[in-house]
Amino acid sequence: VFGATIHQAAIAIDRARLSKEAMEQTARLASERFRSALLSSISHDLRTPLATITGSVTSLRQFGDRMTPESRDDLLISIEEESGRLARFVANLLDMTRIEAGTVNPKHDWVDLSDVIRDTTERARKYFPGSEIETSIAADMPLVHGDSVLLGQVLFNLIDNAVKYAGDEPISIYSRRDGDCAIVSVTDQGKGIPEKDLEKVFEKFFRRGGKTDGGKSGTGLGLAIARGFVEAMGGTIKAESPAVRKRGTRFTLRFPVPEQPRLEDMNT
Ligand code: ADP
Repeated sequence: VFGATIHQAAIAIDRARLSKEAMEQTARLASERFRSALLSSISHDLRTPLATITGSVTSLRQFGDRMTPESRDDLLISIEEESGRLARFVANLLDMTRIEAGTVNPKHDWVDLSDVIRDTTERARKYFPGSEIETSIAADMPLVHGDSVLLGQVLFNLIDNAVKYAGDEPISIYSRRDGDCAIVSVTDQGKGIPEKDLEKVFEKFFRRGGKTDGGKSGTGLGLAIARGFVEAMGGTIKAESPAVRKRGTRFTLRFPVPEQPRLEDMNT
């Protein structure tokens, strides 16, 4: 009996080693895929703005004194925009690298999601002046554990996408408690995402692209980062495109509600 147990244990250890090797192999392949996607993305997302910046600077140096103030302004604005794009791309790459390396380490403070929604919406309204952003926040929202800066970044990103892909239609942000979870959702009334891509949009560098996205620029990292941050805080994020109307997309964040703190336990 003893021998048989040792034999079984040896098989179990072997299996564990195999599955560890398989996991390492999968991780290696995933990081190779990340690296090659990174290289092709870098060549596009860094080179294109850099080419515009270099071209505009050269024109300004060579012909600036003969240009109308409007043409000069156009060139300066494009330099400003492209530099902003570069800065965002680099920030996204750094966030993605932290997620890949498992070094996000979000805070686990008590967070009032209603405050995060109010602050982020206010920021978004200033940033996208033409957009219509409505909020509906349940009065009895429970507190959750999380990092308000990362939560704000995730929410801003979802609003940014809604503005980018849903044009002038209103965007609604909605929060409530659902059993053991606190929910925040961002819904737009744009073209929606087909069922087959609802999970893919969370992959690094995945962009639907083409005419469906109206040729909007982006890096394909926003939602991968959003999922990485949300999961690091113990939550989930999913996308739905209501099949009934075939219009609009809803992104839903879900966080477990811990036992609520007593007033004296609260961090100020
Ligand atoms: P990016 O916007 O930089 O391409 P994201 O990771 O934020 O990267 O989004 C990935 C893709 O998901 C987008 O390219 C777009 O095709 C699709 N997508 C994201 N948000 C929406 C939305 N609200 N409506 C329709 N499509 C969306």
